[in-house]
Amino acid sequence: VLALMVDLAFVPLLTIYPDPDLDNEIMSLTTHCSNYSSGCKWTGKLHNLKAHIDKCSYSERECPNRCGARLRSMKLADHLEYECLKRRVTCDFCGKDFSGEMMEEHDGSCPQESVHCENKCGAKMLRKYLSRHVTGDCPKRPTKCTHCSKDFNIDILQTHHGTCSRYPIGCPNRCDVLKIPREELEVHLKEHCKSALTICPFKEAGCKHKCPRYHLDRHLTEANTTHIKAMFDLVKTQRNHITELQKQLSDLTVNTNGTLLWKIPGYSQKLQAAQKEKAIEMRSPPFYTHRYGYKLQLSAFLNGNGSGLNSHMSLYIRVLPGEYDSLLEWPFSHDITFNILDQGDPLSSKRSHISVRFTPDPTWKNFQQPTTDPNDDSTLGFGYPKFVSHKELKDNCYLKGNSLFIKAVVDTSRIVIP
Ligand SMILES: [Zn+2]
Ligand SMILES: [Zn+2]
Ligand SMILES: [Zn+2]
Ligand SMILES: [Zn+2]
Ligand SMILES: [Zn+2]
Ligand SMILES: [Zn+2]
Ligand SMILES: [Zn+2]
Repeated sequence: VLALMVDLAFVPLLTIYPDPDLDNEIMSLTTHCSNYSSGCKWTGKLHNLKAHIDKCSYSERECPNRCGARLRSMKLADHLEYECLKRRVTCDFCGKDFSGEMMEEHDGSCPQESVHCENKCGAKMLRKYLSRHVTGDCPKRPTKCTHCSKDFNIDILQTHHGTCSRYPIGCPNRCDVLKIPREELEVHLKEHCKSALTICPFKEAGCKHKCPRYHLDRHLTEANTTHIKAMFDLVKTQRNHITELQKQLSDLTVNTNGTLLWKIPGYSQKLQAAQKEKAIEMRSPPFYTHRYGYKLQLSAFLNGNGSGLNSHMSLYIRVLPGEYDSLLEWPFSHDITFNILDQGDPLSSKRSHISVRFTPDPTWKNFQQPTTDPNDDSTLGFGYPKFVSHKELKDNCYLKGNSLFIKAVVDTSRIVIP
């Protein structure tokens, strides 16, 4: 209410009916400053209020530089010194005068200001020299490696060249290629360098020749005969190796329990062939009496031989040269049983295998230690020209599915294992 009355006191309408007494009375009333709410603690007579407000530090007034800002007098000094766009300022570096507005632009770009190089090279200089330094003699100015196009500071470019994959280096063989990017050198040396030592492609065959690549053609022509001979020798060595491996392999698959079960499939065709050709010998796979024992083999003549020819099947056993012969006892003296197996139905008929057991005759040549002479074919072995007649084979169940089973069993009970 008081604030309203104070305001009304200045409304000219009220002076239409002047009343000096009431005026005096009102103007003597005590009041706060109208900036009370902003923080002014002033109180006084109403007629002193106007004078107070004029100098009240909480009153806003225009900047005397007419920059357009309105501010309280308590902020004015700061404004005039630091903020006012129309203030006059002197640059500390170049000494020139600027308006506040211009100074804001000038600040940070004064050519006389001393600044550090933005590449962090440590150099400090007047700003006006900076651009020349940064692009010219700054030891850390950015640059590109001209070989790999990657970005570097110039001070480490030299170090980079020591590892740059595209940096050109000379061929260590001093060939006619001048410089090669580092990453291509390996391929160059391996495949293209004419001065690189090349190994003769017949190295595998034993040629030890090495020469610069450009001499290789000449070597291949000159050493043609030598190369062919080397290849031939290699083939021979490898053939021997293969034979040795085959032997080892067959030794591994050979039966070593003293029993051989020998199936002869296609009996009737084989018999017919034997009847035409006479004395066709069929040989069984070799077998051992035991792991390190005697090596044996059966022989069968389906159409017989000697006294059994055309009427009987003849069956023999022979001792072959084996790996362990020198450790074994000679002559071979262990009982052997020959069997022809009955393949009849085990449920409906009683099986009767043909079985013949015999003791080797120690005077018989074949039971002595065999020679390893492959041409010594004189030893047919020991056995029976008339082992079983064709009729007996046919009339019984010894042939089934056109196959015949012959079994030989060595009595190994007395064999002394070396
Ligand atoms: Zn005030
Ligand atoms: Zn101002
Ligand atoms: Zn300046
Ligand atoms: Zn620098
Ligand atoms: Zn590079
Ligand atoms: Zn080269
Ligand atoms: Zn060669």
